[in-house]
Formats: sequence, C-alpha cells, structure tokens
Amino acid sequence: MIVLVVGGAGYIGSHAVRGLVQAGHDVWVLDNLSQGHAASVPAGRLVRGELADRGALETALRDHKVDAVMHFAAFASVPESVADPAKYYQNNLVGTLNLLDAMRATGVGRIVFSSTAAVYGVPEVVPIPEDAPKQPINPYGFTKLAMEHALADYARAYGLGYAVLRYFNACGASSDATIGEDHTPETHLIPIILQVALGQRESLSVFGTDYPTPDGTCIRDYIHVEDLADAHIRVLDRIEPGRGLTYNVGTGVGASVREVVDAARRVTGHPIPVVAHPRRAGDPPSLVASSQAIRRDLEWSPRYNAIEEIVASAWKWHKSHPHGYGTP
Ligand code: UDP
Repeated sequence: MIVLVVGGAGYIGSHAVRGLVQAGHDVWVLDNLSQGHAASVPAGRLVRGELADRGALETALRDHKVDAVMHFAAFASVPESVADPAKYYQNNLVGTLNLLDAMRATGVGRIVFSSTAAVYGVPEVVPIPEDAPKQPINPYGFTKLAMEHALADYARAYGLGYAVLRYFNACGASSDATIGEDHTPETHLIPIILQVALGQRESLSVFGTDYPTPDGTCIRDYIHVEDLADAHIRVLDRIEPGRGLTYNVGTGVGASVREVVDAARRVTGHPIPVVAHPRRAGDPPSLVASSQAIRRDLEWSPRYNAIEEIVASAWKWHKSHPHGYGTP
C-alpha cells in the first residue's frame, strides 16, 4: 500500500514508518517538524505541511496516490493540555477533521488513528477493556475521544474504514538505537529518569506519592514503541470500508513510578535521586490495558514485556544520543 504517515517524523510515527517500510509498504511522511525530526525520516520521503492546511493535505494525498493514512500528528502531554486546552482542541480536533475531510475529497478511505488510554479517565476496572466507560479527566483525553466519535460517524455516513489504537505509555527506542524519543521540553517519565542518569538533571520529581496504589505512586502500562508500530502494521490490513476497529495497545501489566525508577537504577547503575512532589493535574492513579482483544484478533503480542527491558532499550538510545537528534 501507499501510506501517508502524518506526524511520521515524531516519536511513535517514525517507528511506524520504519515498520511499514520493512513490511514492504511505500511510505510518505507529512510533518510540520514542530515536534518531529527530519533526521528520523527516510531520505526523500518528507513532505513538510500543516494539518491546518487543507490544500497541502489534499495535494499530498493526490500526488502520492495514497491508499491509507496513519495519523500521529497530535499534541500528547496531559499537563500541557490542562494548561493550554486551546492548543489541543485546535490541533488534535480541528486538525484531524481537516485531515478526514481532505481524505474524503481525494477518495482516501482508510485511516489508523492514534488514540489514548486517557479516553478512559479514572477506570472502574483495571486492566481496562475496550468497552469500559469513556470519561476523560483532561483535555487531551477529550480531544482524542471526540475524534473517535467523529471517525465512527464518518464510517457510517461516508464509508470511511478506520482503526483506533488506544496507546498506553509509549516508550523505548528502535532496537538498533538509531531512532528514539526526543521531546522538547521533555515531560515523560522514562526519558526524564534517563536524563538524571546522564547527569543532565539532578533528580526526578515524583508527582504524587499518596495515590491508592501499593507504593503510593501512579501505575502505567509501558509499551515499547516497536510493539506499538507492529500493532499499526497488523491492523492496517484488517480495515474495511464503513467499519471501525478499536484496540487497546498495552502489555497488560503495569509498573509504578517507583518500580520504573528501580528498573532504571539497575539498568544504568546510577542512583537516580527522587524528590516527592504533589500530584500532577489530570493523572489517574492506574492505567493498565486489557490487551486480550488485540492479541486475539491481530495475533499481536508485545516482544518487550519486562519494564527493565523497556528501560534498557530507551537507555541505549539516550546514551548514544544524549542530546536526541540535535547538538548540545
Ligand atoms: N511522572 C513523574 N515525574 C515526571 C514525569 C512523570 O512522577 O517527571 C509520572 C506521572 O505523574 C505519571 C507517570 O509518571 O504518573 C507517567 O507520566 P508520563 O508523563 O510519562 O505519561 P502519561 O501517563 O502522562 O501519558
């Protein structure tokens, strides 16, 4: 297939691009490089463009005779979405509607959409099945849930075929450590811990030590970015016109902030000092995926399961790229 990967220069998108190329697809990347890195895109495959620019989207879809779209171009920081919701509604919601309408205008009928565990809010049941209530507690989660509804409506009315993948906590880097996670500013737990190990930060601030979890810190399901990419490639073939598929993508096992820190101490040999801080706005205590559906339907299973292996994969990238894609 000819696949346009929107946001394909970003962290998860770049790993999906690599997986698609390895699976034999013809891949183009559309990215505005606001968060993404040109260095992560295969040579000659980058189209610079904005989600807000409907004309540019239509041109890219038409010129490259695109069969399917993967859409990663969203802002994805919970605390930032709480502080600046307009940024999130504008890009994640208005931008994605623009993309869907450009697809309609050019007859591209297949999309894989990046959603999130944040659509569940504070789940009543953990591990969380896909049919659990959707009650986001932050603007980021609301923008993604709104788009899930739009996709279902577009499928019914216009015959769009789609897959929604609800990611849990993406982490790690490519196994050869040539592409990896590089956000500015960095807000995610594992890269921040590894910046402490690299001597770039003094300590880790632990946001909340009084959650109703065994050690008082938040529990998340850390899923390796190559396993996430594999889920995209598998689901792409299953999309049918007018139908939607929705899967959680997680390992099914959670790790607390303290457990991640302990794993990083073992992997890096660094003491990683921690400082307790109050809770961060918008954080549910525990988010762990039920991954039964994707394992059953797509015969997908994560190659990285233990938190230590995942941290080791991230560490290989951070150690070899202490300033990410850039220079100090
Ligand atoms: N976290 C933390 N200190 C940090 C960054 C994150 O204690 O400097 C916690 C955060 O509160 C959450 C977990 O680590 O419980 C994972 O956060 P992250 O931002 O990596 O992902 P999110 O779950 O928000 O998508």
